[in-house]
Amino acid sequence: MLLFYGKLLYHFLYQYQHETENRRQENIPGRGGASFFMIGLIGGSGLHEIPGFKVNERRAVETPYGLPSDEFMIGELSGRTVAFLPRHSYNIPPHKVNYRANIRGFKELGAERVIAVSAVGGINNSLRPGDIVLLNQLIDFTKSRVNTFYDGDDVVHVDFTEPYCPELRESFIRASESGGIKLLNAGTYICVEGPRLETASEIGFFSSMSADVVGMTGMPEAVLARESELCYVALSVVTNLAAGISPVKLTAKEVVETMNRSTEVVKTLLSGAIGLVPQRRDCPCGEALKDAGM
Ligand SMILES: [Zn+2]
Repeated sequence: MLLFYGKLLYHFLYQYQHETENRRQENIPGRGGASFFMIGLIGGSGLHEIPGFKVNERRAVETPYGLPSDEFMIGELSGRTVAFLPRHSYNIPPHKVNYRANIRGFKELGAERVIAVSAVGGINNSLRPGDIVLLNQLIDFTKSRVNTFYDGDDVVHVDFTEPYCPELRESFIRASESGGIKLLNAGTYICVEGPRLETASEIGFFSSMSADVVGMTGMPEAVLARESELCYVALSVVTNLAAGISPVKLTAKEVVETMNRSTEVVKTLLSGAIGLVPQRRDCPCGEALKDAGM
């Protein structure tokens, strides 16, 4: 009998959740025809806005984890509905970004895919400032961030063998080929805590681990997207050579200047890739929680 009432309650809650979700989705601009799908875009240092991106609405989203970095700018890019979120609005440093609120915000808006852009230091000797790397692997060296949505009674271990969505990666590779844009289509990202930059010894160690680039924001962003069953892809813009590799002292100014110079190329790549993202997902990301619970 208890089991029966339990199932009834579950059924009721499930229905309620979906009806609430449907009502909320109806209020989102562009939502409503079968063709609607939204792509989330997270901009990193230097990429506070996307030229050519026509913003129709700014939307504040409250989440159970607090407020995202800023209001979401919802508009059109390449004929697609895009929700743009600057990761470092109000000068939020990498270790203080509310990653859970940001990812949950995209989920609340109804986005199924998230594209992340970030500034990185180049570790691999072949990289130069201005190079763009489409990541395929990551190593997590963060220390003090909440890195899961499941820190309560539910125990969930999502598969993270391939941290980035293969389908979104393919859209970027195709866009770079058709647009004649130089893109390194594989690279390992190592995420450090920051906000300080790395020591020369640390970079030497990361190099021995086959890391290609180093940054401060890739985690827990990537895993939170996976736990939310969102597709996630990351584009890293090399803004400087990492410590011990660069012949000169690193400055934050250098990061922003290179990012600004690369913005046009990144924008062209983003526009092309967003236009190539297939409407229906044919990747495993949407079932990340299946069989992940204990
Ligand atoms: Zn995917």
